[in-house]
Amino acid sequence: MGERNRHDVLIIGSGAAGLAAALHLAPYAKIAVLSKDELDSGSTDWAQGGIAAVTDPADSEYEHVQDTLHAGAGLCREKTVWHVVCHAREAIAQLIRWGVAFDRDGNDFHLTQEGGHSFRRVLHVADATGRAVSSNLIREARGAANIETFANHVAIDLVTTAKLGGATNRCVGAYVYNQQTDHVEVFEAPCVILATGGASKVYLYTSNPDGSTGDGIAMAWRAGCRVANMEFNQFHPTCLFHPHAKSFLITEAVRGEGGVLLLPDGERFMPKFDARAELAPRDVVARAIDHEMKRLGADCVYLDISHKPSALIKKHFPNIFATCASLGIDITREPIPVVPAAHYTCGGVVVDLNGGTDIPGLYAIGEASFTGLHGANRLASNSLLECLVYGKAAADHIRTQLPAATSTTPIPDWDESRVKDSDEDVVISHNWHELRQFMWDYVGIVRTDKRLERAMHRIELLKREVHEYYSNYRVGGDLIELRNLIHVADLIVRSARARRESRGLHYTLDHPQLRADARDTVLYPSFADPLDVLRPVAG
Ligand SMILES: Cc1cc2nc3c(=O)[nH]c(=O)nc-3n(C[C@H](O)[C@H](O)[C@H](O)COP(=O)(O)OP(=O)(O)OC[C@H]3O[C@@H](n4cnc5c(N)ncnc54)[C@H](O)[C@@H]3O)c2cc1C
Repeated sequence: MGERNRHDVLIIGSGAAGLAAALHLAPYAKIAVLSKDELDSGSTDWAQGGIAAVTDPADSEYEHVQDTLHAGAGLCREKTVWHVVCHAREAIAQLIRWGVAFDRDGNDFHLTQEGGHSFRRVLHVADATGRAVSSNLIREARGAANIETFANHVAIDLVTTAKLGGATNRCVGAYVYNQQTDHVEVFEAPCVILATGGASKVYLYTSNPDGSTGDGIAMAWRAGCRVANMEFNQFHPTCLFHPHAKSFLITEAVRGEGGVLLLPDGERFMPKFDARAELAPRDVVARAIDHEMKRLGADCVYLDISHKPSALIKKHFPNIFATCASLGIDITREPIPVVPAAHYTCGGVVVDLNGGTDIPGLYAIGEASFTGLHGANRLASNSLLECLVYGKAAADHIRTQLPAATSTTPIPDWDESRVKDSDEDVVISHNWHELRQFMWDYVGIVRTDKRLERAMHRIELLKREVHEYYSNYRVGGDLIELRNLIHVADLIVRSARARRESRGLHYTLDHPQLRADARDTVLYPSFADPLDVLRPVAG
């Protein structure tokens, strides 16, 4: 039998969102923070560019809001955008108190400008901002008396009073698989925060770490929360394509310095797609690469910077040069094989301005949530900001709830009486690969009705097969993730089928036009066919 743990707040996820919430709550409550792997294994640690915030007096919050709305292609919730943008300076000041040393230019911050921003407003720590954020937050959390961290603990499902047969509904904890003991533990808490990150691992190629399997989104959906805008998946155009390289991004700066994109036969192709050629926006470049790869049946295209002086390449791109060299690619002499890669999940669990979900006691923050900040396309460097602002907002709200929020409903132990050890792990590895391959081929950068329908049929089969497997065998980390990935894939396909237009990151050849009315795709778990319930989110 697994252990039982009881805290005031259970936070599932140790990235920027989860740890920010934990640190804000630490003076007031006893907190558990879970991580599937090590505490720094989420996307936060991998973030490169930085965090957007208005700190230059010549810049303005109005401009930051306008840039965000423009990127979001008509679907941002304006109230959310103002909320996040206006809390940015406070979030940065707090990060500095927690020890993050942003790059400086004299007394001022050193600011960079990224695509879509009309002003230099991105604070950074060299090209490894995420590492600086993650390491400082982890150090602070380890030093806080009230925060208990649980690495290698994988949440399986949320427990709600409704599921336990209660008359009212409230989230009261979660079942959690301890990867070290191989047991399922009970975590009880009157307030639970999902801070589980995105779901980009549902695609064959991704810039994200392995754990980005959309666990929080799938858990919230199964528990009865609305999920919105899952069709908006942001793809980074150039990720290194090599059998031994996983998720290595080739920064846009390579194209900025004159790098050109080539087909396998050496032909340059971007000029025929956009007058800005390689300097077109990310989604345009990603779509062009996808088009050429599908047309030729090619595994990758090539990014060539070798016509520039070798010294310049090594000076500007030391990290890329070294990584490629370690794989036998000399970028000063030959082109780099690249593919687009799933990078960011714009949709997620529907929340209010406090991060509160449809279920009392349950919050969702960071990339797992749908706040309305990103709309149909994320503005660069707004995501870490969203994690920090909503981490604090959820903590502030929970503080006001805690004295009253005491659960009296005990969670029963995890029942393993009817399951046995798996003798067929191939089911997991096969389905894991199959899912990510067809999601890439049919539900990727360019979609059609037919491709989405094909994906839907396959998801139905996988859902049945994995459900049967889950019902008969003991759980393990891979099975938990696969089950979640299939649910997330299902949500993406349902959302993509419901959107009969091309907007922001959702591009379909069958509906290339933009509809006059911009609406969120909100899926309601209690309805039999969510395709019938395309509705705007209130608030
Ligand atoms: C390569 C790369 C570069 C990026 N660059 C930038 C940038 O420059 N600026 C920017 O703003 N954004 C950037 N992003 C996006 C940004 O990093 C993420 O959106 C953000 O870090 C997400 O933070 P999070 O706290 O929501 O989740 P994450 O940091 O992904 O953390 C998720 C946590 O949840 C845990 N978890 C997940 N499922 C479970 C489960 N079932 N049980 C227990 N724990 C679980 C994980 O172990 C992990 O601890 C980048 C992303 C990538 C991949």
